[in-house]
Amino acid sequence: MIVLAGLKLTELEALMEELKATKFRAKQIHNWIYAKSVSSIDEMTNLSKDFREKLKGIAVVTDTKIKVKQVSSDGTIKYLVEYPDGECVETVLMRFDNRANLTACVSSQVGCAVNCSFCATGKGGFKRNLTVQEIIEQVLTIQRDTGLKVTNIVFMGQGEPLLNMDNVLKALQIFNDDFQIGARRITISTSGIIPQINKLAELELQSTLAISLHAPNHELRKTLMPIENKYPIGELKKALLNYVEKTGRRITIEYILIHGFNDTPEIAKELAYFLKDLKCNINLIPYNSVIENDYKKPSGNDIMKFKYLLEHSGKKVTVRLERGADIDAACGQLRGRAG
Ligand code: SAH
Ligand code: SF4
Repeated sequence: MIVLAGLKLTELEALMEELKATKFRAKQIHNWIYAKSVSSIDEMTNLSKDFREKLKGIAVVTDTKIKVKQVSSDGTIKYLVEYPDGECVETVLMRFDNRANLTACVSSQVGCAVNCSFCATGKGGFKRNLTVQEIIEQVLTIQRDTGLKVTNIVFMGQGEPLLNMDNVLKALQIFNDDFQIGARRITISTSGIIPQINKLAELELQSTLAISLHAPNHELRKTLMPIENKYPIGELKKALLNYVEKTGRRITIEYILIHGFNDTPEIAKELAYFLKDLKCNINLIPYNSVIENDYKKPSGNDIMKFKYLLEHSGKKVTVRLERGADIDAACGQLRGRAG
């Protein structure tokens, strides 16, 4: 069976040609999939009944199912999405009261090989990459289920997007062309895969690149992120400077705050110094609890002090609002299984 969701207009046109239908049919189907987010061919009511039957013989809109849906008290919705081979990933829809944006936090892999010490996703190991269709299905699942249109996308779910870069970039193109979500409304978050960052610089990526830094020096970063051994922070800094030069884009630096570990005033100053010559905003993420370790979230006071010291260096610093913690949908809590 052909899965229609995830096909671009030109691919739908080629399919229509095979079926001896007009190009206009492809446009109609495209509209049903991406703008109206239907889940079945029967809902495509401006196609004739005969044509719908013919199409149903060879194609389905989607082969993905919602296995579990949870709604947080703050309005965040988390879906456990199941693919035909039985593998599942989580995808999260976030609504911020003061903004009209609807942000989808999507996964790029089943599991993750990077295995950061503070993250639930890494704990289960790496299973497999998601296909282009599986990536975009997450956003369609949200749109179908809520009847709402997603306006922003962050690759901050399960997996390391730059270790599945080809599919992530193809999905990005579909988000641009077919969902009409502008590149600037899309963010890719990475633990710092240097060769891929260099490739994105060459491609002059127009989406936002977010770097999970979490420490200002090699020794400390190593204890949190094993990837630091392969791609050390000094080399990462060079790649980021090159990225800014090539793309002209401002980078987002993500920094988890763990109580007594990387949140002291001395470390804030060291971080400010490290980032001094880099065009970036800083997003502080108070640590969200994951059962398997002893880390703790800092106090509100410590968070504000850290923020203040960083702002002193002239950077824009935000503290990420925690979303969906009561349903384990906050950063780092996604593990991709039910219960
Ligand atoms: N693999 C990519 C993208 C997914 S993680 C990356 O690591 O960047 C998205 C963000 O959530 C990252 O900045 C990650 O470091 C952060 N995160 C992971 N576990 C967390 C936790 N327990 N508390 C708060 N943030 C966490
Ligand atoms: Fe993978 Fe990101 Fe989790 Fe690290 S924080 S284990 S890179 S998903």
